[in-house]
Amino acid sequence: MKVAKFGGSSVASANQIKKVGAIIKQDPARKFIVVSAPGKRYKDDIKITDTLIKISENDDQDRPYEDLLDLVNDRFLSILEELNLTSAIAHELHQTIEDVLASDAENSLKVDTIKSLGEVFSAKALQAYLTSIGVEATYLNPETAGIIVSDQPGNAQVLEESFTNLYKLRQQDGVQIIPGFFGYTKSGKLVTFSRGGSDITGSIVAAGVQAELYENFTDVDSVYTVNPSIVEQPKEITTITYKEMRELSYAGFSVFHDEALIPAFKKGIPVCIKNTNNPNAPGTMVVAEKEPTEQCVVGIAGDDGFCSLYVSKYLMNRELGFGRKLLQIFEDEEISFEHAPSGIDDMSVVIRQKYFTKEKERRVIERIESELHVDTIKIHRDLAMIMVVGEGMISTVGVAKKATSAITDSGVNIMMINQGSSEVSMMFGIQEVDLERSVQSLYKAFFT
Ligand code: ASP
Repeated sequence: MKVAKFGGSSVASANQIKKVGAIIKQDPARKFIVVSAPGKRYKDDIKITDTLIKISENDDQDRPYEDLLDLVNDRFLSILEELNLTSAIAHELHQTIEDVLASDAENSLKVDTIKSLGEVFSAKALQAYLTSIGVEATYLNPETAGIIVSDQPGNAQVLEESFTNLYKLRQQDGVQIIPGFFGYTKSGKLVTFSRGGSDITGSIVAAGVQAELYENFTDVDSVYTVNPSIVEQPKEITTITYKEMRELSYAGFSVFHDEALIPAFKKGIPVCIKNTNNPNAPGTMVVAEKEPTEQCVVGIAGDDGFCSLYVSKYLMNRELGFGRKLLQIFEDEEISFEHAPSGIDDMSVVIRQKYFTKEKERRVIERIESELHVDTIKIHRDLAMIMVVGEGMISTVGVAKKATSAITDSGVNIMMINQGSSEVSMMFGIQEVDLERSVQSLYKAFFT
């Protein structure tokens, strides 16, 4: 039994949905299908979820809310018409949005409910289409499927009992079509995952029904060793481990949500990333372990939007609890840290810049000065982090040398280096403006 998840570009138009139908029909093992909301058909197109979010917030300056509603409606109407289906689903969607907006439910519930409707109606359209081409298909709401999540609107976490609930669905006849991106709390409230969260649903379902494979259909033939918008035609990755994939997704590989691997990883379900537009290409397999190869680095990723807070204090290494106290200040400000490289007398805390407002910066500095009595505090904004990833690094001599040489050869100053103790990745902190050049140079050093 396989679970197949189709992303936004795979259900963006009637033509794409026809391809999805053919893929499902071609392999009877594809029993559980998870879908995203219709995504972009072309580069500057609008994602349905983005429009739904604007509707739910009802504060778009450029378009009155009715225009936005028409946009969603027209998109679904054209999909249904081209699939030779009745327009009933689009009307139901329209009515549901109006009803939710008019209801007196709490605001976060309204927002999450409206946000989820792209997935709900995408799943309903696919179910109707599959039925029309002779595939026995049922629409399965995450509540009926038993996907139970924490009460964190827009950032739900799956709860363990979901897996037991989902396991019971194994015996169902036909193909089950499940909308991705949301679940329900124990008290029955709809809550969405973070953006791109349909991948998470797919992984939860695969882990729950204990699928032999979780296929994640997107619009690229495979995961590439580096972002193709930075390096032209980079090498493809055929097999990658969960750990490596997690590091790369975290650091800017957008093919797969970085939280989505955890459920599949915990239950040991292999993941295959495939292309809806070229389903016969082998794709990239994500597995628990792989044979060691000569190529110890599997990929290079970089992401911007970081900042670091550097502190130094003479004899810091002898001061019991210094690191904890410093991190506590960030915790009190509800900022989670990404990396924390340290030396004997200094420590940097790397965080996502968007969470470090000027107001928070002021409070953090004030507290560090008054509570930790450090010698120096420096804030560096507009940083980028590059991750050089590969499990084979642990047993290969000279990877750090090769990486640092590649970055410095491109004339870039390395501001920070961190190698996690797992030795799956090596992190380099640089200025945002130097990101592309550094990644290109690293790619050249490791892959050509
Ligand atoms: N539609 C949601 C989003 O755009 C979830 C997803 O596509 O995975 O974030």
